[in-house]
Amino acid sequence: MIKKFLTIEFEEWENENTLPEADAILLNKAHEAAQKAYAPYSRFKVGAALLLENGEIIQGNNQENSSYPVGSCAERTALFYASARYPDIKIKAIAITADTHEPIPPCGMCRQAMLEYETKQQNCIPVIMGGKTGKIWKINSVSSLLPLQFDPHHLK
Ligand SMILES: [Zn+2]
Repeated sequence: MIKKFLTIEFEEWENENTLPEADAILLNKAHEAAQKAYAPYSRFKVGAALLLENGEIIQGNNQENSSYPVGSCAERTALFYASARYPDIKIKAIAITADTHEPIPPCGMCRQAMLEYETKQQNCIPVIMGGKTGKIWKINSVSSLLPLQFDPHHLK
């Protein structure tokens, strides 16, 4: 038996004001999207914003349902819309936020969904995670957020 270890490297920024401007703009778009979330059950509003290679920013937010599993997270709402509308345009970055005082990381299902597009486009998608206030985390690829991942090569 061999014990193996995985480590992930990410950046931690003191607050939104210290972020590079492009990242701060994207995070603000995620904040804006969060305000429009449909979250009558959890009242936990989450926003996501994707920067596409064509310069367009796609926003998404959580969409809940009285039948809970039917709902969707902010990240997947944005990703699926972007892929439906611009199937061949690469995603340059994604920002995720909620009204928390700490960075909000994507759930496991959204990590898997983001990984699909990162694999498809063969370019890393940086993920910026922030809250309403407080520190910001930035990780340079979805792959780093999902170690020992399941991806298309497992289907062959
Ligand atoms: Zn999710």
